[in-house]
Amino acid sequence: KISETRPEIRQLDEAAINRIAAGEVVERPASAVKELVENALDAGATRIEVTIADGGKGLIRVRDDGWGIPEAALPLALSRHATSKIDGSDLLNIHTFGFRGEALPSLGAVGRLRITSRVAGQAAAEIAVSGGRMEDVRPAALSSGTVVELRDLFFATPARLKFLRTDRAEGQAVTDVMKRLAMASPYVGFTLRDVTGGGEGRVVFRADPESGDMFDALHGRLAAIIGRDFADNALRIDAEREGLHMIGYAALPTYSRGAAVSQFLFVNGRPVRDKLLTGALRAAYMDVLSRDRHPAAALFIDCDPMLVDVNVHPAKSEVRFRDPGIARGLIVSGLRHALAEAGHRASSTVAG
Ligand code: ADP
Ligand code: MG
Repeated sequence: KISETRPEIRQLDEAAINRIAAGEVVERPASAVKELVENALDAGATRIEVTIADGGKGLIRVRDDGWGIPEAALPLALSRHATSKIDGSDLLNIHTFGFRGEALPSLGAVGRLRITSRVAGQAAAEIAVSGGRMEDVRPAALSSGTVVELRDLFFATPARLKFLRTDRAEGQAVTDVMKRLAMASPYVGFTLRDVTGGGEGRVVFRADPESGDMFDALHGRLAAIIGRDFADNALRIDAEREGLHMIGYAALPTYSRGAAVSQFLFVNGRPVRDKLLTGALRAAYMDVLSRDRHPAAALFIDCDPMLVDVNVHPAKSEVRFRDPGIARGLIVSGLRHALAEAGHRASSTVAG
């Protein structure tokens, strides 16, 4: 019921603002994992260990060997719109995963967050924030890098907590997010451990750092994540068109194992969920694969950041091409070319 007297306009406090923002940035445990792992990647980490319990609802811990956060900057890292990644003057030219400065304050508003970090040559320090209440910075023990621990996600927003799915489903979503991130950074080592119930827990997935050139590293990483079978039956893709460059691996038409669809597209290192890929893959394989089959592929498009907009959604899982037609054309022609070279000639002309 609308009140009969006119309420005054008031400024919301920082904790309330952060809780509202958290609804956009952090939908579920998997989105928290994505934000924290991207922070580790942005900090130049070469090894990232993620530990979860209860599907990530009880615990998410991300440990990295990146360059750390200076003690004096810890409170700032937890402040809204504070970031070391852009200066605000060039939103069209973004080379890091993060740039909004929203993830840590959001997580600290809806859960219990503790950051322990150490910059080389300095002492380690930690800061905690719980339901938006920040504690003082304290000395801590850590040999290097950063550990971000998030407990009781959404305890401060019970309505949101009720919308989460089972621990099993949330844990699966965490695994999927980790695998996508790991695919796009093959030189970085990733471990995901589940410690539900206590103890050492079990390793859900592990990918050791790959070496060699980009194709070698990617090939090794795809074998570790999609499967050796796929890697052994995949065509190497390397194509270019109007400023977009695509590399990756796509399955031979003769390869089909299991029912799970493995189709992955990344743009400038960001995983993208878009119908663009499904449609383009279908078109590329049209003459060599029956319609009910779904070709497996992992494709990485790189381009000038000016050609895409990553500002579409706070969770940044959507990337919009200024010209989606060019991306589609690149995928279709690049794959058809590789299929033809491998002896799977398409009868129709290459789409352009
Ligand atoms: P954003 O990533 O958009 O900058 P975040 O809220 O995720 O915003 O992080 C705020 C800042 O904290 C980052 O800009 C970065 O300087 C610092 N930071 C966060 N996580 C890490 C980490 N794992 N290692 C080093 N610095 C970090
Ligand atoms: Mg971030």
